[in-house]
Amino acid sequence: MTNKAIAQAFQELANLMELHQENPFKIRSYQNAYITLRKLTEPLSEMSVEDISAIKGVGAAISGKIQELVQFGKMETLEKYRAKTPEGIQEMLMVKGFGPKKVQVVWQDLGVESIGELLYAINENRLLELKGFGAKTQEELRRQLSYFQRTKHQFHYGALIGTAEALVRDLQEALPETLVSLTGAIRRCDNVLDGIDILIGQETLPAGNAQWDTLQLTLAGEGTWKGSTADEIPVTVHLCAPEQWGSRLFTTTGSPSFLQAFTQEFSIPTVAVEDEIFRLAGLPAIAPEMREDDWSVALAKAHNLPALLVEKDIRGVVHAHSTYSDGIHTVAEMAAYSRAQGFDYLVMTDHSQAAFYANGLSVERVLAQHAEIDQLNRELAPFRIFKGIESDILSDGSLDYEEEILQQFEVIIASVHSGLKMDREKATQRIVRAVENPYTHILGHPTGRLLLSREGYPLDHRRIIDACAANGVAIELNASPYRLDLDWSWIPYALEKEVWISINPDAHSREGIHDIRFGVCSARKGGLPAASCLNALDAAAFATLIQRKRQ
Ligand SMILES: [Zn+2]
Ligand SMILES: [Zn+2]
Repeated sequence: MTNKAIAQAFQELANLMELHQENPFKIRSYQNAYITLRKLTEPLSEMSVEDISAIKGVGAAISGKIQELVQFGKMETLEKYRAKTPEGIQEMLMVKGFGPKKVQVVWQDLGVESIGELLYAINENRLLELKGFGAKTQEELRRQLSYFQRTKHQFHYGALIGTAEALVRDLQEALPETLVSLTGAIRRCDNVLDGIDILIGQETLPAGNAQWDTLQLTLAGEGTWKGSTADEIPVTVHLCAPEQWGSRLFTTTGSPSFLQAFTQEFSIPTVAVEDEIFRLAGLPAIAPEMREDDWSVALAKAHNLPALLVEKDIRGVVHAHSTYSDGIHTVAEMAAYSRAQGFDYLVMTDHSQAAFYANGLSVERVLAQHAEIDQLNRELAPFRIFKGIESDILSDGSLDYEEEILQQFEVIIASVHSGLKMDREKATQRIVRAVENPYTHILGHPTGRLLLSREGYPLDHRRIIDACAANGVAIELNASPYRLDLDWSWIPYALEKEVWISINPDAHSREGIHDIRFGVCSARKGGLPAASCLNALDAAAFATLIQRKRQ
């Protein structure tokens, strides 16, 4: 074991003990050991016990622990602290600028146990209420945590697409005559990605562009180069002759199971334009997002491909938070922004009273917000704000207010935010009960998952979708790139049951509204047409539909 590794073991021990609020003197001595041992030039593994004990600041206890490490490769005390600390918390301690004191606060006060959960809490401005945190700390932490996650090999679609599009744009500017496109999983808009794939329609690697040169591409196979961006996002570059562009774009875009299903019946000719492949096969073109498996091939063969939803089909912002609960902009700001972005309506859905951690609305504050919305609606017409709430689904499946208050809302989104550790039967029953509540309009983020960090409770999706169909309840596709919940793979079944899907940004700020884009991408993967999307309805049709539930 190297001195560096030994020193780091003491640093980790000091951090874990501080996290568990142990004796500060002991912690200090381990911190000092870290500093001393790190600087030591003579290898500890070759020193005698006496020599080790003679090092300044190393007493009998630390000397013993060094022996343990040298002899067995581990230290019992350290293992003990590791065992009682969740893995995600240990990981947080490795994030730059995030010391044990702050980790302890988010762990204890927010109950957050993984970096993904923490990023989501930041997204909801939950750290602002904590002692020792402010807007600046929160922002810096968001940066550090995203960086840490990015370097862990898997990425949210939303974390990569900006960088990917900028790369393509730069390259296209440098090579105006050459075809350049995203390809692979990012072109299919997969929810999580391993990196960025780019196809270039020339056989030699372009150079001369500063941004591009930092990728440091190296040959990884015929016509394939690999490298990474300055912040360590893997980039794969595929090269091809212009006359092969269509074929290469097709073969690098489709998932293996899609390509297998396709080639079982059709050949892939060498063509310059991708659509030619479909035309020659006698099929309608399958959108890149749907090239995941044999399902879309079957639909194409039956000439039954849906006319997919596009972002500009979305007419209303459904599911948004304001300063009444955990958003950072006021109702007026959220409404003005939605209107300026070209939307016709906003469904304001702050948290309900049980969500104390999110400043959920008491009955009094609900009424105050309704008065404010009435006033704003007079000012902003024909733009319309609907009075909504994101009601917690309580542990028994009931909603979070008495009936006379529930009646006052125009739109109710019912969501689970607590008691997430349920088995499949319990979770399904709890949600079915909420769906059966006559006041529920939309089931919010059905599984509670956070992509790359929390699985979400297991659900009997069929039973949930059947219950939504039976009770005229729409299902949210939560458009946050951390959630994308309902998973797109359940959209076909929801369509079969004629259940509306609502693409909801769950915006906690004005800018959060733009997450709708990610929801649309995911919805397209599941084959959602605009005609089955609840918030593709205009304000009048939306109002009629939700009122029907109240009659
Ligand atoms: Zn929610
Ligand atoms: Zn929400």
